[in-house]
Amino acid sequence: MIRVTYTALIPPEGRATFCTMTLETRRTDPGQADPDLHPLELSPESMRHMVEAVTEQIVTYIQSLPDQPAARVEGGVELARSLVEDLPEEGAPFRSLIDLVFERAVPTGFNTAGPGYLAYIPGGGLFHSALADFIADAVNRYVGVWMAAPGLVQLEANVIRWFNQMVGFPPEAGGLLTSGGSLANFTAVVAARRERLPADFLAGTLYASDQVHHSVLKAAMLAGFPPENVRQVPVDDQFRIRLDALEDHIAADRTRGTGAQPFFLVGSAGTTNTGAVDDLAALASVAERERMWFHVDAAYGGFFMLTERGRSRFVGLERADSITLDPHKGLFLPYGTGSLLVRSLETLRRAHRVTADYMPALQDSNEFVDYCTVSPELSRDFRGLRVWLPLKMHGAAAFRTALDEKLDLTEWITEELRTIEELEIVAEPQLSIVAFALRSPGKGLNHGPEELNQRNRELLHRINAKQRVYLTGTQLGDRFVIRICVLSFRTHQDRMLAALDDIRRSVREVIARQPD
Ligand SMILES: *Cc1c(COP(=O)(O)O)cnc(C)c1O
Repeated sequence: MIRVTYTALIPPEGRATFCTMTLETRRTDPGQADPDLHPLELSPESMRHMVEAVTEQIVTYIQSLPDQPAARVEGGVELARSLVEDLPEEGAPFRSLIDLVFERAVPTGFNTAGPGYLAYIPGGGLFHSALADFIADAVNRYVGVWMAAPGLVQLEANVIRWFNQMVGFPPEAGGLLTSGGSLANFTAVVAARRERLPADFLAGTLYASDQVHHSVLKAAMLAGFPPENVRQVPVDDQFRIRLDALEDHIAADRTRGTGAQPFFLVGSAGTTNTGAVDDLAALASVAERERMWFHVDAAYGGFFMLTERGRSRFVGLERADSITLDPHKGLFLPYGTGSLLVRSLETLRRAHRVTADYMPALQDSNEFVDYCTVSPELSRDFRGLRVWLPLKMHGAAAFRTALDEKLDLTEWITEELRTIEELEIVAEPQLSIVAFALRSPGKGLNHGPEELNQRNRELLHRINAKQRVYLTGTQLGDRFVIRICVLSFRTHQDRMLAALDDIRRSVREVIARQPD
């Protein structure tokens, strides 16, 4: 910029005889904004300074993860209330804001990034992906439309291509990255509805096991189906959908004369409750015969396809019409990355087709894709880079090794739990989840089911109170059971030993309190 200064030259005798005007040009880079005039445009020094400060905080934070409590759940209400505020008119120093985030907001809650998080479904949050997001957000190219960023869109398309190859889909397959498994399941239901049902679709019925993730029920509801159109089929003793019961349901729907139209069958490749894997090949055959869309919810389990054990358990996955995968689970990515794969990209295009005059020309070849034409989203964040960067940097092998380690750790702790007399394994691991519970003590001490459930809740509470691991429980039939889900890339043998030790001690504590 050019700064104009007026300089009055005063002669030594003190009499102003003339004035000159000089133009002073500040030697800044051309195009460089003046931070005083445009504070939102940061100077190079500020950008570097901010990044360095945050890098320092993050590296220190990540190094401290193993020593942090696995969860710190007290004080949430007070903390949240203390953070309520109105929109500020004036700014505050950057440092103070980052400190607020790290020192006050972050520490309370579940330590989802830490090695002791064995609850729900962990993931971890690869640092590489955080950096990829930094790049994606900073360059801020537009990836909703192919033409706006053909190179970056191709990097994202490569990721989908790798996933499709992993599951064994044909070359005309496609898909997209979503914000998570829930949106992927929703998109699958909508695509199937558009492909298989008439415009008046209310007779369409959906089939899944009673262990299916609740996002499938939500998806059906949001896609316009009455809740009673979802048939929840009972499971066998390993929590897999019972084929005989499924066939009975379909046959009854076909013959009852209600006009019900079976159109959507869901298989689970790893349920959230116990990691149960349905017989996918058998389900694929049922779907073919009944002309139903076959969707596999592999949000939790899908990336075990990278391992030999996973592949042997997922036979039939390649026959699905659509598959949900959650990279923020089995690829250890930060939250906000799910994906839906479809056997034919055209099905997604047909399901989302609309036009608008102000839109640029869109691709209709199978070679290139405008992501806005295959999803409800138009503008979106560039999710591709956060998957692409770690996969390119380490290759699939590093992920395969990490996932194999999770399967090994789960098998290991299952065998150890089996040796604890008071416990029983309620759900054997099929992937990296095991569910266990205190058994009824017998010996004349007959607990009712509710009393036993109460003791198992107490056991869970005592394990978590030691703060080295964080486990969650679930309900299997009328039993309350405790789950261990090993999926974080930061969880290794040392933490599993700690888990076992805390479980043993907690069992002794609960037994000691037994009123006998
Ligand atoms: C986690 C999960 C979902 C939901 O995925 P989000 O990414 O949380 O939306 C769906 N199905 C299964 C089996 C899951 O484990």
